[in-house]
Amino acid sequence: MSGDARVPTGVASIDRLLGGGLETDGVTELYGEGGSGKTLLCLEVAARVAREGAWVLYIDTEGVSLERLTSIGGLPPETVLPRFLLSAPKSLEEQTRAVATACALARGGSRPVGLLVVDSLTYFYRLSLAEPEEDDARLALSLEVADLVAVSRSVGIPVLLTNQVWRNLRTGGLEALGGSFLNHAAKSILRLERLPGARRRVVLEKHRSRPEGSAEFRITSTGLVDGGPD
Ligand code: ATP
Ligand code: MG
Repeated sequence: MSGDARVPTGVASIDRLLGGGLETDGVTELYGEGGSGKTLLCLEVAARVAREGAWVLYIDTEGVSLERLTSIGGLPPETVLPRFLLSAPKSLEEQTRAVATACALARGGSRPVGLLVVDSLTYFYRLSLAEPEEDDARLALSLEVADLVAVSRSVGIPVLLTNQVWRNLRTGGLEALGGSFLNHAAKSILRLERLPGARRRVVLEKHRSRPEGSAEFRITSTGLVDGGPD
């Protein structure tokens, strides 16, 4: 895919915000509090990519995605699951191996890979914070991200990473985990926010070629739908 190619998320308001969809030559970071819709958005894009005939490499540290995937878009599982390569690491070491395997598969080219997802990139890293292994975990994570950036650019596929948040007690605001290296490495950054009920807001915080802005979407039992412009 060329540098200007986009992979639609399928959620019209988000695609408008992104100028058509996810970029194919860089990492997109989704961050936001629990329940803000990070996993649902990953699954929505993944189901769409698989339905269009490309493979999805999906690294799931939460252990829930496969079950929820089958309810997205009202699709029968057999139309989506055969093109899913799912990995469910149970530690940061396993996650590092899963990322290396996914990058090798994407580079290998034996399957037409259309998307690589790591949800959540920072789950195990978060567990290491304030522990003796924190520095090692940060280094491992930064090497993973560097490899993911490189594979996105060389193969030309979107890489979607989710990130958890922590509350900065000084400012009172929610901030992305993972330190500045992740924010520098991600070419696009979307912050998801909870609104009342099923409504969610997505804020474009960083993008190479789009202005900052926001949009809304809604969560339904069969996936995410356009919530119209803000
Ligand atoms: P975490 O950080 O905990 O992984 P997340 O950002 O990945 O959270 P999701 O798991 O994508 O969040 O979103 C789950 C949210 O979607 C929950 O708030 C849940 O209540 C909501 N939800 C799930 N199904 C529906 C539905 N049919 N209608 C409305 N809301 C729903
Ligand atoms: Mg999640």
